[in-house]
Amino acid sequence: MSNTPAPNAAPETAAEAPVKNDFIRQIVREDLASGKHQAIKTRFPPEPNGYLHIGHAKAICLDFGIAQEFGGECNLRLDDTNPAKEDPEYVRAIQDDVQWLGFHWHDLRHASDYFEVLYLAAEKLIQQGDAFVCDLSADEVRAYRGSLTEPGRNSPYRDRSVEENLDLFRRMRAGEFPDGARTLRAKIDMASGNINLRDPALYRIKHVEHQNTGNAWPIYPMYDYAHSLSDAVEGITHSLCTLEFEDHRPLYDWCVDKVGLTQSPELVKPLTDKGLPFEAAKPRQIEFSRLNFNYLVMSKRKLMALVQEGLVDGWDDPRMPTLQGIRRRGYTPSALRLMVDRVGISKQNSLLDLSILEGALRDDLDAAAPRRMAVIDPIKLVLTNLPESHEEQLTFSNHPKNESFGERRVPFARELWIEREDFEEVPPKGFKRLTLGGDVRLRGAGIIRCDEVVKDADGTVVELRCTLDPESRPGMEGANRKVKGTIHWVSAKHGVKAEIRLYDRLFTVADPDNDEGGKTYKDYLNPESRRVATGYVEPAAATAAAEQSFQFERMGYFVADRYDHRADAPVFNRSVTLRDTWATKA
Ligand code: ATP
Ligand code: MG
Repeated sequence: MSNTPAPNAAPETAAEAPVKNDFIRQIVREDLASGKHQAIKTRFPPEPNGYLHIGHAKAICLDFGIAQEFGGECNLRLDDTNPAKEDPEYVRAIQDDVQWLGFHWHDLRHASDYFEVLYLAAEKLIQQGDAFVCDLSADEVRAYRGSLTEPGRNSPYRDRSVEENLDLFRRMRAGEFPDGARTLRAKIDMASGNINLRDPALYRIKHVEHQNTGNAWPIYPMYDYAHSLSDAVEGITHSLCTLEFEDHRPLYDWCVDKVGLTQSPELVKPLTDKGLPFEAAKPRQIEFSRLNFNYLVMSKRKLMALVQEGLVDGWDDPRMPTLQGIRRRGYTPSALRLMVDRVGISKQNSLLDLSILEGALRDDLDAAAPRRMAVIDPIKLVLTNLPESHEEQLTFSNHPKNESFGERRVPFARELWIEREDFEEVPPKGFKRLTLGGDVRLRGAGIIRCDEVVKDADGTVVELRCTLDPESRPGMEGANRKVKGTIHWVSAKHGVKAEIRLYDRLFTVADPDNDEGGKTYKDYLNPESRRVATGYVEPAAATAAAEQSFQFERMGYFVADRYDHRADAPVFNRSVTLRDTWATKA
């Protein structure tokens, strides 16, 4: 094997990447041009309550990509405000995923790094008369909240004195009250048309151990409060999130403005004491549409159920839309970035066709994956006119369109494996491959004719006995003789037995989330989504590094399994077929 590039060393598809100019990048450009910001700063804020999925790849490419393009910085912030659902396993996977996608964070932060700051900020709100401790139960709060058409009613606790509120909040913090007994609420407007502004909760009581802060806190901040102030603390200039947060933006701004971190340096003292820099900025939240594909489910809850009920083989099952799953499937970071670029950034929510995702992978691997030969459903073929001991090394180019991939040696001998479907004893009309008495070209080796079919007692074809036309060998004039078809092969003596996992879409229907008729996504699992075959690969495929992608000629794109592949026991996963076979099925 010579000149094989490093695993999946995709050349940047620069030719396809015009300057990106979506509405968010336009805002960033204007803010820099007008001097509103000297530098920009973004963050990617996942909640570590599950694995990241393809949708998150869009947010990651946007948050980190914009920082990169405009010479700014992007933090990875773990939004760990809900300890009951969070786990260090997810934290590790999130970091792995972001790095795999090719991005580097400026700082790794946790919302929990700011618990002390958030607490002091809450006391400030109380002192300003902007927050109060409420004793209503969750059900009562709901009843008081009103609806889209009716205003809410003020909590009977809304007019507590500052002193009483401070005392109660400090006792909440000291752990004096049971879960759910009280909340700290913002005092905004129970008649607001925006329900998010109807005195939303800022803190709740939860006696749960936290993965970072242990048992230090019996109260935890709510998402909107923690998120907006974390952005402000980190000096985030552009806080990018998905459209469902649009209605939360007024609350986001309210929190940032009322707390006014820049005017109250004492609030950030706990941070500076810890050696964490404080970079004040007034962050601006901008929303964009979520990425959704048909044939997939992307809700963390549903993905969790698939894993917990054993319907897939874990979070990194190659059929899962998690980044760990599609990585194992053979998706490359450059394919995902290409997909995100093609989809673009807008405010229109839509359900995209999965062929956009698969098409990006095909295009990426077509350019980036070296070619190899593998036989997935083998049948023995014997070239009877070659001596038993015949053995030679043929030279194959690794990529038909890119010489820089170099060449490799492919062993050729008297006995070969070919694909069972490449032979038909009774050929259907238009069949262009091997038939009894017919000719076919063995890729790169010469033209053969099938003289005899050997069957077992059941009548199954077990061996094809053929002759190799000696005038048709590589470089000879007879090699140009016209035959109908070309098939691939692997030398039986040299080929390495391989486990080949044939993956397909996990769901049989385009909209598995549709639960009309009492069905759920679990009723639409594709029983054919994972088939395991035992085939043979040429030596230069067996010796691949884990995660190296190949095009197995005529069969599709495959990747050496990240965990199970070994040179002496190769395991390959089908990443995607060569052509979209679902377009015709649907
Ligand atoms: P899910 O709804 O699947 O549980 P989430 O939105 O709760 O996901 P977070 O961990 O809060 O997951 O998401 C981190 C960031 O990724 C957020 O800024 C969120 O807006 C963004 N994000 C999540 N899902 C998508 C998606 N499908 N497309 C684009 N961005 C997404
Ligand atoms: Mg979320």
